[in-house]
Amino acid sequence: MADNAPTPVIRKTTHDWPAIQVALAPVEVLDDPTAVKKRSRDFFWYSPILNAELRHSFGELVVCPKTPDELARCLAVAYAHDIPVTLRGGGTGNYGQAVPLKGGLILETTAMRKILEIGQDFVRVEAGAMMIDINAALAPHGREMALFPSTQDIATVGGFVAGGSAGIGSIANGPLRENGNIRALKVLSLEAEPSEHVFKGRDVLRIHHAWGMNGAITEVTLRTVPSHDWIGCMAGFDTYQDAYAAGYALASVPEATIARKLCSVVDARIANYFPRLDTRVPGGRNLLVTLVPRAQLDALRTLITRQGGILHLAMDEAERTAGKLPHVFEFAYNHTTLQVLKSDRRATYQQIGVPDPADTATVARVYDALGDDVWPHHEFTRGDGVICAADLPIIWFTSPERLARINAIYKAHGFTIHDAHVNVIEGNHMQPDYQHLAWKRRLDPKGLMNPGKSTAWERVKHLTAEAIEALGRTKPDMQDRPEG
Ligand SMILES: Cc1cc2nc3c(=O)[nH]c(=O)nc-3n(C[C@H](O)[C@H](O)[C@H](O)COP(=O)(O)OP(=O)(O)OC[C@H]3O[C@@H](n4cnc5c(N)ncnc54)[C@H](O)[C@@H]3O)c2cc1C
Repeated sequence: MADNAPTPVIRKTTHDWPAIQVALAPVEVLDDPTAVKKRSRDFFWYSPILNAELRHSFGELVVCPKTPDELARCLAVAYAHDIPVTLRGGGTGNYGQAVPLKGGLILETTAMRKILEIGQDFVRVEAGAMMIDINAALAPHGREMALFPSTQDIATVGGFVAGGSAGIGSIANGPLRENGNIRALKVLSLEAEPSEHVFKGRDVLRIHHAWGMNGAITEVTLRTVPSHDWIGCMAGFDTYQDAYAAGYALASVPEATIARKLCSVVDARIANYFPRLDTRVPGGRNLLVTLVPRAQLDALRTLITRQGGILHLAMDEAERTAGKLPHVFEFAYNHTTLQVLKSDRRATYQQIGVPDPADTATVARVYDALGDDVWPHHEFTRGDGVICAADLPIIWFTSPERLARINAIYKAHGFTIHDAHVNVIEGNHMQPDYQHLAWKRRLDPKGLMNPGKSTAWERVKHLTAEAIEALGRTKPDMQDRPEG
């Protein structure tokens, strides 16, 4: 082999791949080892633990269907040859959700990206549509997605619905699972003849956040909300406690006063890693990062002054594009972690539920106990109308033992760990979702979809769908992790 030849993909399965490529035709396939390896990764490298576990896990062939019919063909071929299938959108998940553990086909949806219908308060799209394109299509109608992740520029809506949970908009409109935010999902089964299933209303929860294990989503209908002339804002505070209290105050204010769609609080040491804002936002400030309608900017200014802060940045879309500046939400959610990781790969993070968002003193107390290797960052959202806070701190990783000790300190103070360093859906503090698993039994009878990502599936796969469902009637529903 020539020195510069790409390393071949290590085959995990013994399929006759040339014959399978013939069976897949005319669907586009990528078999170049570099392309296959690239599409076998997501952002699992945020976690040194997952990085060690997953960096040598690769698929064997990438397929890029352009239509639901082509996608159905891929699923039928996988069924006929018993090939593991991993669905993939933009590959921006944080826990290796889109990393094939057992080789096989990577089914990339990004060529299925049509905007199919824009209604008065909904949008219907193909699963591979990028969220930036959906929001751009909605803009002339004065609408936008009720919520979207900070990765909207590269992530697909199918990946968001299958792998994400909350994002920009969740402080006003809740997480994906609530308020009819997902109106309907169209899904294909992995069978000899893939069948189409439509889930509407609360039934969308049978598919939402199942990590592509129980059917391939082909179409998504989402609730939309009125758009505003948004102003991206950053306010500075002397102490983290003051910034956190201001975040809670902003999260609590009535929509009619300030209809914010983002409410993030970031420690000054993290903010020091934020690029290209140094001339606008002075260093050493604990930041409240938000997006508010222009008409309510004065109300925000008043709130910030009352909370003891200073509004350093108030930037509209025209100024942002002229200055080639990032959106303020690229300093929120898991982009906060990314900004630090760009400079220093020793950083990692964790996902932590705050027991009582109003209790600033407990947040301060846990940080006193944690030490200097954990830097706070909170996201305020709303669930069932109630304000929630998730901490996504920067952690300077030294060892798995220290990470376990950090988790233990949080737990001892009443916080909940939604472990970002685990690659199975029932990660720490998550109950098995028997509705998901029952539908996996129906839609993926051979268990070929994203194998290895559910420990509960291994325990129930011999049961009928009805028997799996019955298990759920005695166990609580799975909760979503507060996805970054
Ligand atoms: C910097 C950064 C910031 C982030 N911010 C947020 C945030 O604000 N909110 C949030 O919720 N998440 C966030 N995430 C996580 C992730 O970006 C989002 O959840 C994103 O929407 C995933 O979309 P994707 O197209 O990249 O999905 P992928 O990573 O490609 O896939 C995610 C999961 O969905 C499955 N899947 C993909 N397409 C389909 C389909 N058509 N049918 C069935 N299953 C499918 C995959 O198999 C995988 O299990 C962030 C991640 C990073 C790295």
